[in-house]
Amino acid sequence: MPVKLLILGGSTEASQFIQLIEGDERIAPVLSLAGRTKSPKLPLIPHRVGGFTGIDGLTAYLRAKKIDAIVDATHPFADQMTGNAVVAAGRVGIPLLRVNRPAWMPVAGDDWTMVPDMAAAAEALGETPKRVFLTIGQKDLKAFREAPHHFYLIRSVDPPDPSARPEHCDVITATGPFRLDDERALISEHAIEVIVTKNSGGSATAAKLAAARELGVPVVMVERPPAPEVETVTTADEAHRWLNRVLESVET
Ligand code: NAP
Repeated sequence: MPVKLLILGGSTEASQFIQLIEGDERIAPVLSLAGRTKSPKLPLIPHRVGGFTGIDGLTAYLRAKKIDAIVDATHPFADQMTGNAVVAAGRVGIPLLRVNRPAWMPVAGDDWTMVPDMAAAAEALGETPKRVFLTIGQKDLKAFREAPHHFYLIRSVDPPDPSARPEHCDVITATGPFRLDDERALISEHAIEVIVTKNSGGSATAAKLAAARELGVPVVMVERPPAPEVETVTTADEAHRWLNRVLESVET
């Protein structure tokens, strides 16, 4: 019997991990997506879309589908889903692995202000009106409505709901990876004075940080939510090795 594996997705690492396990007949995987992106890139493995309805819903799902193990490869900021997975996997008594890529670290020449959340990020922009490049996705824009004296260039995968946007803004829809030349040009053309980003880590969206460094543009960096106590790796390859160990323990 193949091992039933639930993959909580929505990140580059989830896609990489799926490529590593595609065609492995020892595994019956199912990818779960929250359904936030209108046109997600879907892999060749079975998938489901939408929330489980909290910890109880996820627990019921794990039991109903007889899931044997979970790889939580959600985005570093998807802390609600990650926390729910920790509790539900514990209740059902199945192995759970978190894949969480390393956070970005400042290097010489960076001018970063670290803040704990979006409200603090909006506040860190200050009283003087500025032209702000907002690369935080579309979920957390509300805090910037409280700082309407700035102009915001918002970049997100799908256009944010107009009611969630700050008053003065332009929207660019785009999906990474982004190139350094393009990021430099974007920041210059829009006369950006400060960038706000989450510390997502990874290479796909890191070019804006290098461009900011070159151009002397400061960055307001929203720090990650606290990591839960769960076995964690940083790459898809490590997750694949973990899964192989799980498979060996099932076979022996
Ligand atoms: P979140 O705040 O941790 O989760 C909120 C709720 O969304 C969860 O309680 C769960 O609903 C549902 N959910 C989240 N991920 C799910 C998944 N993979 N499968 C099924 N349901 C899921 O998550 P989020 O920050 O909104 O992120 C949502 C999705 O977008 C995740 O898959 C994440 O990997 C991806 N993403 C997030 C970010 C980001 O910056 N947060 C960036 C890029 C991609 P129920 O309680 O109903 O089960």
